[in-house]
Amino acid sequence: MYYASTRNHLLRHEFTDVLLNGLAPDGGLYIPVEWPSLSGADIEALRGKSYAEIVTDIVHRFVGDTITRPDLLAMAERAYGRFSHDACAPLVQIGTRHFVLELFHGPTFAFKDFALQLLGEMFEHVLRQQNRSLTIIGATSGDTGSAAIRAVAGRRGIRIVMLHPEGRTSDVQRRQMTTVDSSNVLNIAIKGTFDDCQALVKQTLGDLDFASAHQLGAVNSINWVRVMAQSAYYVSSALSLGAPHTAPAYCVPTGNFGDVYAGYVARRMGLPISQLIVATNRNDILHRFFQSGVYASGKVLPTISPSMDIQVSSNFERLLFELCGRDGHKVADLMQQFTSNKTMQVDPDQLAKAQELFASASASEDATQSTIRSLKERTGMVVCPHTAVGIHAADTLMAADQTHPVVTLATAHPAKFPAAVEDALGYSPVTPQPLQDVMTKPEKYETMAFDGETLKQRLHAFSGESV
Ligand SMILES: *Cc1c(COP(=O)(O)O)cnc(C)c1O
Repeated sequence: MYYASTRNHLLRHEFTDVLLNGLAPDGGLYIPVEWPSLSGADIEALRGKSYAEIVTDIVHRFVGDTITRPDLLAMAERAYGRFSHDACAPLVQIGTRHFVLELFHGPTFAFKDFALQLLGEMFEHVLRQQNRSLTIIGATSGDTGSAAIRAVAGRRGIRIVMLHPEGRTSDVQRRQMTTVDSSNVLNIAIKGTFDDCQALVKQTLGDLDFASAHQLGAVNSINWVRVMAQSAYYVSSALSLGAPHTAPAYCVPTGNFGDVYAGYVARRMGLPISQLIVATNRNDILHRFFQSGVYASGKVLPTISPSMDIQVSSNFERLLFELCGRDGHKVADLMQQFTSNKTMQVDPDQLAKAQELFASASASEDATQSTIRSLKERTGMVVCPHTAVGIHAADTLMAADQTHPVVTLATAHPAKFPAAVEDALGYSPVTPQPLQDVMTKPEKYETMAFDGETLKQRLHAFSGESV
């Protein structure tokens, strides 16, 4: 299996590069040269299999010979063995045809664990094969940081340095990172904003001599491995609903277009999916695109679903690649326009194609809150605000005469966002014991000025420390 870049469809990259680099050298995103196929019989053969077995079957089609199937299964069993629910991604029914796919039973209570737990296993495996080590550097404002830290803590050959903006993450989110007590984890609170943190990461990785001398790597939302790992829960949930003989619709709360794009990948492989719905909060760059064909970034508005508060949707470029007929040079031109003007537009044919593939809806803050309330009244289920954005979109777009099931993805546990839930319901959600523990464990992090040189000095020292 070879990979192209969304900005150059002619070059070929190996899976190992895709895994360890994240971003292609030309600034594009890695994408498989061709889609592996998943036939009706292939889907049928997965019936009754464990979640780890389903992941292994799907992911192996993208990995090729780099990792053997037995090795991959062992990794998946370790990764998903850390989830607190045997099904890993259980389905819960909330209406006649409406189901919720609970993706928050991993170690950090958000769906990012599905990809990052497996990514941690793969990193360790490939680094051991190559007898080298890696220091991962990342910036976070929300759920990625804690999921990445938990995926890497205690592993051999890997260190992780996570930057967060001091005082600008929620207490739960910060504590989920800073209470992980492992010598290969370094948390740094930067005196600045999330954008400052990201700028520091970019600047550090952009110093190629420094980055290669210290074996730096990135963990970010555009890593292909995250997308392909997430495709597996579309397959497992569709199977539960009767695939390949049904074609569920999926409604996905979206920020960086990663999770819903994983659904697109499952559909491209051959999983019958009747519709993919992009659900955004009032940061609705994607919703506006699917309505008008204009992709224009504005100012980030804070919401009660903060993990979807984005200006630019980093995985969107992978869809653009398909809309441009897999011509990387056309994508590079459009992205160049977007970089210069903060806006770009696809032509009417491309818009029609995009609308064929995705429906979209956006939820206001009021709609999000009232969805949390009404769902609790109707079903007893308490959902996080991101999930509520999805349920609102599904309710809005579900046609009355529709017969296929609709699955809304529940992206985080409500106890990760207690303030928003309390505002909607008048009381806070039940907090699972591990999240309660996080609130009392001692924290470990350093504070640093917004300064690239200071960060480099610290990274240099950290990479010399034995872990
Ligand atoms: C990251 C995240 C999202 C958005 O996912 P994308 O893959 O960026 O679209 C939604 N909800 C929660 C809770 C998240 O952590």
